[in-house]
Amino acid sequence: MALNRAERLRAAVERDGATCIWCGRSFTPLVPPTTEHVVPRVKGGPSWPENEVAACRRCNSDRGHRGPVEWLEECERRGWEPDEPRLARTLAMLLDAIARKGGQRRARPYLDAQLRRLRRRATVGWPGGQLA
Ligand SMILES: [Zn+2]
Repeated sequence: MALNRAERLRAAVERDGATCIWCGRSFTPLVPPTTEHVVPRVKGGPSWPENEVAACRRCNSDRGHRGPVEWLEECERRGWEPDEPRLARTLAMLLDAIARKGGQRRARPYLDAQLRRLRRRATVGWPGGQLA
């Protein structure tokens, strides 16, 4: 059964917790969750739960069309605490969903590049660099 956009956003918050993936702020009436596409729609990212996480409006709009790993690194430079395990988990879920459902020719190479970049971070970054 396909969920509509608002229902998918609620489900993402239930799945991942009520915090922004990028800055870690808790959602409140003043900081409401918005739908963030890990692979942007302009890059062919599907509107699937596996490509959607919750982010605050500020982070969603500041990111623009930047890649998720590039933006994660920018968040760190800003002194925020982005949820890297959540990003890694979502990218892995999307990879799996594409393998099952097929298609998404434009999103695939983009996703592969992001996964490679995240893995590189895990090997050169902190010893405990977290990848699920
Ligand atoms: Zn945020």
